[in-house]
Amino acid sequence: MKGYCMKPGPFRYIAAQSVEEALDVLASAEEDVAILAGGQSLVSLMNLRLARPDIVLDINRVPGLATVQADDSGARIGALARAAVVERDASVGRYVPALITAIGHIGHPQVRNRTTIGGNVAHADPSSELPGLLACMEGTVTLASASRGAREVGWDEFFISVFTTCKEPDELVTSVNFPMAPGWRYAYDEVATRHGDYPLAGVSMGLRVDGGVVQEARVSVVGVADRPVRLSSVEAAAAGQDASAALARDMAGIARTECPASDDAHVSAEHRRWLAGTLVSRLMASMVDAA
Ligand SMILES: Cc1cc2nc3c(=O)[nH]c(=O)nc-3n(C[C@H](O)[C@H](O)[C@H](O)COP(=O)(O)OP(=O)(O)OC[C@H]3O[C@@H](n4cnc5c(N)ncnc54)[C@H](O)[C@@H]3O)c2cc1C
Repeated sequence: MKGYCMKPGPFRYIAAQSVEEALDVLASAEEDVAILAGGQSLVSLMNLRLARPDIVLDINRVPGLATVQADDSGARIGALARAAVVERDASVGRYVPALITAIGHIGHPQVRNRTTIGGNVAHADPSSELPGLLACMEGTVTLASASRGAREVGWDEFFISVFTTCKEPDELVTSVNFPMAPGWRYAYDEVATRHGDYPLAGVSMGLRVDGGVVQEARVSVVGVADRPVRLSSVEAAAAGQDASAALARDMAGIARTECPASDDAHVSAEHRRWLAGTLVSRLMASMVDAA
């Protein structure tokens, strides 16, 4: 097809055998290096020549980066853990079920077999489910570099804009952390044109309810702005209120006002805001019913 290229430009391929080797390549290369994890986004970008790295650094053989750990303090997922593996992990299902739900909306089973959790958040697609859940759970991303060691950054610092994070060129994402504090429950829901598509709007909700009263709420939305957004007015309106159907309606109304949105080829901004509100009320109703 004229104007479209389906083969990547020339590049040098390096398969790192350890984290240290990967970090050394990132630190010493003077050319543009792309880290290859699941390849589900990078390879398409390279084939379309939207990405033209000089070096492709394959981390798939690096040991120790695919760990999956979950307990009552949350889930700590190694960057190379495949979405499909996390989705089937019993401890994640027990302690952080919202993560299983959110992963279940990423593409299709074949895509999830390759997609890595680190690659998904490093890619920072503004419609991706996991960045939204991270924002809702006050999650963190661990980055490592050869010269500065490891640092853990909060979601708000990590996600800057479309496909843009605070990761420096010499850094590798090593883990993604979804913390749970006592009393909190989380859920995720979205509306997409077809199941497996990126969402038109995706909402994550966290609630801490005691004696039928919402003590604290967290609400984040993806697919509506250049990065995940928290709806602080909705959160503030819920705190101290009875967890009821009336509150769900009120929260939805505020979400439809507060949620940023713009028109695109799929839906109008108004319709997108409406979807966000509907998801807020649907999640609130299901979480209160399940309490
Ligand atoms: C048909 C289809 C449907 C999809 N639907 C969805 C969807 O609904 N929701 C969704 O969220 N995603 C969706 N995706 C994208 C998919 O989840 C991607 O795989 C993901 O966004 C990137 O993960 P990856 O492991 O494949 O990373 P790669 O494609 O290998 O890399 C993506 C980017 O992250 C960088 N990177 C990767 N790993 C690291 C690391 N450890 N440290 C630093 N940088 C790193 C790479 O250099 C590259 O820039 C879909 C993909 C396809 C093909």
